Amino acid sequence: MPTVGFFSDPACNRHDMDEEHPESPARLDAIQDQLLSSGMEYVLRFFDAPQATREQLERVHTPEYVASIFDRAPSEGIEALDEDTRMNPHTLAAVLHAAGSGVDAVDRVIAGEINSAFCAVRPPGHHAERNKAMGFCFFNNIAIAAAHARKAHGLERVAILDFDVHHGNGTEDFTAGRDGYLFCSSFQSPYYPFTGTGELPDNIVNSPLEAGAGGDALREVVEQQWLPALKKFNPQMLFISAGFDGHIEDAMAQLRFKEEDYLWVTEQLRQYADQYCEGRIVSALEGGYALSALGRSVVAHLKGLIGN
Ligand SMILES: [Zn+2]
Repeated sequence: MPTVGFFSDPACNRHDMDEEHPESPARLDAIQDQLLSSGMEYVLRFFDAPQATREQLERVHTPEYVASIFDRAPSEGIEALDEDTRMNPHTLAAVLHAAGSGVDAVDRVIAGEINSAFCAVRPPGHHAERNKAMGFCFFNNIAIAAAHARKAHGLERVAILDFDVHHGNGTEDFTAGRDGYLFCSSFQSPYYPFTGTGELPDNIVNSPLEAGAGGDALREVVEQQWLPALKKFNPQMLFISAGFDGHIEDAMAQLRFKEEDYLWVTEQLRQYADQYCEGRIVSALEGGYALSALGRSVVAHLKGLIGN
């Protein structure tokens, strides 16, 4: 049985934008609850996520932008970067641990200490562009992890797969036209952030889905677009932006995925990685706001990483 690492940090629970905000600390609690009740904690290895360094952040974000996040972090109260992306006094620590989780996971996967990893962290990252925070995101956790695999470990080709209900505009901003990266993203369209539909370089595979689309549509995207793109690109490691806000119970949007769809897509990617990437996968939490569905979906995703 492969060893799957589970990365998190208590700092991620202290980032709180306000009690009405859907991207809340209760999300990680819901995941922990489902881990306990599923018995899954017995087959995972748990790690506290370290903080990312500025050098690691600046592989994806501009030094000016990174400095602005440090400068704007409040010592009290709330600092709003946009309408729904806000910092409290704990946010800076949370964003550094969230980004650092993927970096540490890459180090441990490549060292062979674990086979794959899931980072149960917040804030999420895939909307964060090279020089812009937006959509609950500050630093692009999955892009920073992928860039670490390229720059610190010398991997030549890495692929990022994103099944969050929203388009990963930040990841596209970093990867589009950049050597060594493939980015595949499925998302409800038209929908926030209203990107992912224009003319793009060959290393971007955008798979827009209409409101109301269900798991069949996701499976078609994976079989007809993502797996062929992976075979052509031949990555050495896979990265997953694991957002669960496309779940049928999640009121954030109108896709109709279920736990078994997340299990299926994860199994497809694990089987691909087993065959072509030495099983190396690092996955990071993005969205998912219906708490019970989020917890169950993460358990399904972990089962997919572990396999039979
Ligand atoms: Zn989302």
